[in-house]
Amino acid sequence: MSPAPMPVALLRSSLLSVPHGFPRREGGVSPPPFQGLNLGGSTGDAPAHVEANLRALAAAGGFPTGRLHTVSQVHGDRVVEAPELDGDDGALRPAFTEADGLYSLREGDVLGVRVADCIPLLVEAPDVRAVAAVHSGWKGTAARIAARAVEALASRGARPGALRACVGPHIRGCCYEVSEELADHFAGAFGPAVVNRGAAGRPHLDLSAAVCATLEQAGVPRAQVEVLQACTACTPGFFSHRRDGGLTGRHLAFVAARWPGPKTGTPGAFELS
Ligand SMILES: [Zn+2]
Repeated sequence: MSPAPMPVALLRSSLLSVPHGFPRREGGVSPPPFQGLNLGGSTGDAPAHVEANLRALAAAGGFPTGRLHTVSQVHGDRVVEAPELDGDDGALRPAFTEADGLYSLREGDVLGVRVADCIPLLVEAPDVRAVAAVHSGWKGTAARIAARAVEALASRGARPGALRACVGPHIRGCCYEVSEELADHFAGAFGPAVVNRGAAGRPHLDLSAAVCATLEQAGVPRAQVEVLQACTACTPGFFSHRRDGGLTGRHLAFVAARWPGPKTGTPGAFELS
């Protein structure tokens, strides 16, 4: 008999006021090389493991599995609105479209993005009670998908200056060695501070600095953007596509449109346990 899994461990932002979380590997039922809470279905792991892990995440995060929206991520810059749900029977929903960011103003909706080294960016717009979740790897970061998310929320009445955001665990400048060509591109687009030279003089990219610069240019004050410090490649407890040579699991960062304080007419709102 295999030992019981460890509890699910969620990292949280000190800035966001809505329910959210960035899971680590702990918890879940997947065996190596997906050991722990693998939340990615196209990894080679058994679908039954991934579903059990998603249900464990939902239980730990206090959200109904049937309200979780995800997208089929394609390293682009498209940010789309989550569709209205036709009831909630508790079933897990497949990705509703190809995109790399999603947002919702619907009370009770939960948005998720899958990552293993890429940046999971969670955003809230308290003034219009909207949330967004964004997958930003180097391609999405270069395409400034974070600004697309700000624009999408602004199109629904949110003031960029009122947004709060959190950059979750990803591969950081300590470990993310890139080609000279890519380093040059990022330094030209975002400034020299996004590239550092490791001990051997090779270029390493700081994706979070590029995302923070993008958000600031889009009108989000730097003080309203938090960057969690863990590096998925060298901090124990994370899946890392780079470190594990592609054969690894996925994390799923989530954010829920559930706001503190009363609001009239909130069908589908749920209570956090
Ligand atoms: Zn590192």
